[in-house]
Amino acid sequence: MALIVQKFGGSSVANADRVRNVAKIITDTYKAGNSVIAVVSAQGDTTDDLIEKAAEINELPSKREMDVLLSAGEQVSASLMAMAIEKIGCPVVSLLGWQAGFQTSSGYGLARIRTINTARMERELDQRKIIIVAGFQGLCKYGDVTTFGRGGSDTTAVAIAAAMHAERCQIFTDVEGVYTADPRKIKNAHKLDEITYDEMLELATLGAQVLNNRSVEMAKKYNVELEVLSSYNPVPGTIVKEKIAMEKMLVRGVTKDNDTARISIVGVPDVPGVAFRAFSKLAAKNINVDIILQSYGHDGSQDISFTVSRANADSVLELLKDDFGTVLIDTGVSKISVVGAGMESHPGTAAKMFEALYDVDVNILMIATSEIKISVLIKEEDADKAVAAVHAAFFK
Ligand code: ASP
Ligand code: MG
Repeated sequence: MALIVQKFGGSSVANADRVRNVAKIITDTYKAGNSVIAVVSAQGDTTDDLIEKAAEINELPSKREMDVLLSAGEQVSASLMAMAIEKIGCPVVSLLGWQAGFQTSSGYGLARIRTINTARMERELDQRKIIIVAGFQGLCKYGDVTTFGRGGSDTTAVAIAAAMHAERCQIFTDVEGVYTADPRKIKNAHKLDEITYDEMLELATLGAQVLNNRSVEMAKKYNVELEVLSSYNPVPGTIVKEKIAMEKMLVRGVTKDNDTARISIVGVPDVPGVAFRAFSKLAAKNINVDIILQSYGHDGSQDISFTVSRANADSVLELLKDDFGTVLIDTGVSKISVVGAGMESHPGTAAKMFEALYDVDVNILMIATSEIKISVLIKEEDADKAVAAVHAAFFK
């Protein structure tokens, strides 16, 4: 009997009809002779609504209480799903994160999974029960409920698949798989049959909404093959794995990320230690820096620009303004990236991307590259036409 782990995102369980639809997918898998553990996210916009509710009462609530609040969204979904399955007539039990054995760090709001005590899940499976697990939550050593950060239910599913040695880990969502660009925005974006963990990790980090990047990291670490597929349309999705049969495709996807802000420190002395002083201040506050650009120094001074997520822009200004004179913030920017393992061995990818941007008159503010991605920072108002132009250049 194969064990299959299935994960259903918030839109897939948004209302009673959709809960029933997913219950059918789960029970069909079960009736085909498999053991099934299904992980569910909070319904629709529940998590956002809960965050708003909290803000009405306290604009700076403790992270501990936020975790108690947000974990409730997944609790609602798990119980409703179990009820829908009861109604179909299959044996089922819903488990909260701690009941499923998730032990985590005490980093409330962004907890890391330490171990999973699988005894309870094994016991339930032995009794041929379908298990519904509330996503994105566990219990820390203080006996408190913790959550894994936005989109963390993917990680719950991958962690269960790894710990229980599942045959398959299916991530059901509202699109049919991983696309070369957001299919809701780019008309001729097409679905990829397969993609490597590394490519998927870049896409997820650079703004593709389909999988949470931590879950991809974990899938790679434990070699859990993922299948991303639609909960509405029973067609083959996209397989995410270590190695794929190399296709001719140089670039696998184009992404847009608006959650970025450019910070410029202007006219600092062109001497050793300036970058060190600035960035160590940010590191001390756990602020992630993305693209960094240092200008050519002249007359003894230079500029340093870098990007951070928008939520951190004000803190960065606070941290740097006293020591570094003129610090400018621009939140009207967007990061466009192309990702593909093939570009490592193919010169000219960057030129092709820049030409596509030039053709639609988009100015590049910053550039960053790695072996398998090229990112450019541009004005946010140009972002959609830039993605369309770059996508068209690589995917005729
Ligand atoms: N409900 C949480 C969120 O919206 C976790 C998840 O959906 O995976 O971020
Ligand atoms: Mg959600």
